[in-house]
Amino acid sequence: MIVLKFGGTSVRDAEWIGRVLDIAHQELPRSPLLVSSAMAGVTDDLLSMASSASRGHSEDALQLLESVRERHMETCSELLECREGPTHNALDRLMSDVRHLIQGVSLVRECTPRTQDAVVSFGERLSTVLIAAAAEARGISVRLLDSRQFVRTDEHFTNASCMLEPSYRLIREGIHPLPGMLLIAQGFIGATADGVTSTLGRGGSDFSATIFGAALQAEEVQIWTDVDGILTADPRIVTDARQVKSLSYSEAAELAFFGAKVVHPFTIQPAVELGIPVTVRNTGRPDRAGTRIQAESETHGVRALATRKGITVITIHSSRMLNAYGFLSRIFAVFERFRISVDLVATSEVSVSMTVDNALNLGPAITELEQYGRVQIEERQAILSLVGRNLWRDPSFVTRVFVALASVPLRMISLGSSDINLGLVMAESSVDTAMRTLHGEFFG
Ligand code: ADP
Ligand code: ASP
Ligand code: MG
Repeated sequence: MIVLKFGGTSVRDAEWIGRVLDIAHQELPRSPLLVSSAMAGVTDDLLSMASSASRGHSEDALQLLESVRERHMETCSELLECREGPTHNALDRLMSDVRHLIQGVSLVRECTPRTQDAVVSFGERLSTVLIAAAAEARGISVRLLDSRQFVRTDEHFTNASCMLEPSYRLIREGIHPLPGMLLIAQGFIGATADGVTSTLGRGGSDFSATIFGAALQAEEVQIWTDVDGILTADPRIVTDARQVKSLSYSEAAELAFFGAKVVHPFTIQPAVELGIPVTVRNTGRPDRAGTRIQAESETHGVRALATRKGITVITIHSSRMLNAYGFLSRIFAVFERFRISVDLVATSEVSVSMTVDNALNLGPAITELEQYGRVQIEERQAILSLVGRNLWRDPSFVTRVFVALASVPLRMISLGSSDINLGLVMAESSVDTAMRTLHGEFFG
């Protein structure tokens, strides 16, 4: 079987959904499971409705809801070539469920993470109803699934962790792909053991795709988006970024983790265990091969660059660090308690600097850290990562990086822990220029 995941950009309107169905139709002999995101922008709209309603602006929320409703209805009419019918009715029922939720939020003027997940889950539920109906209208035999019955998560609503083993079991028991039949499921959404709707975090549909793929031992997971694959840099920053033909699992995971938004950071993990190849391809240009992510990459050296903004550098200065056992573990225990993940670390005899990008619980965590020494905070930093194999074995590599960035003040450097990533921390305001400079140096 094969998993085909389509992002919001690929299901943005009737024309693009038509392309999606062309691709799915071609893959019918390979027992496809299609995983879809919400139509582009719909998740943002649902979040903004929930936020307006919780601040008492229910008129704004309902107005936005009406525009989302119209967009789905019009796309439906265009795809099915009729202005009403059972699919329009099904969409309307879902819309009226969202309306009730939004009205509830505006009454209590509060939107808990759990309620927020209930609201945003409608994006994927709506888009998949549309795609399923359009596929049936083309004569494809379809089974529309509800991912909440298969993707089991914990209760960290809005950013839930998937419990892989229980999910795999549910998927294997309940889903049986067949040649000639198109299975359709929602990305991004799941449910807790109590059946409460949850989501896997923004961009989580890619992760859903590999969860289904690993459970069903897919021969391939294809991630269809609006660019030709993984590029050497974010094309919105570097206009001449080039397509990367293939990457190893660890290179792709590193790029995703350090900011290449094209795939969600957790996507690779389920695929690695079974060695399932993941390809990233362009729905707008299906003739292109895209990027193949697999066990081994073919070349050495820098493969791509990524940036992550909104980083905070925390430095703890303490003479108690000198020769002290367990100092770092006590500091990391504080981050663990507050569920803050630390990405890069640099230490000296009397200080330790760390980068974090979760500003949510930072205040109380810092108060606790102050018992270990003087805490210094630098906000609005960014990490620029160069990813590739055996980077530091080439002595000229580091020199080229530092000469190219001679005029950029660097705050922290991390190389060596994985041998596939050089991480440079600098002010957010310098990072786009630094990325273009390094791209020119290595790919120009
Ligand atoms: P989808 O709706 O398909 O999930 P996303 O917006 O989540 O699409 O991801 C695709 C976008 O990621 C591209 O349009 C591109 O602007 C951005 N992007 C950032 N870094 C990269 C990169 N290294 N390679 C390709 N695309 C990237
Ligand atoms: N629709 C969700 C989002 O916009 C999930 C996804 O697209 O992957 O974040
Ligand atoms: Mg995405």
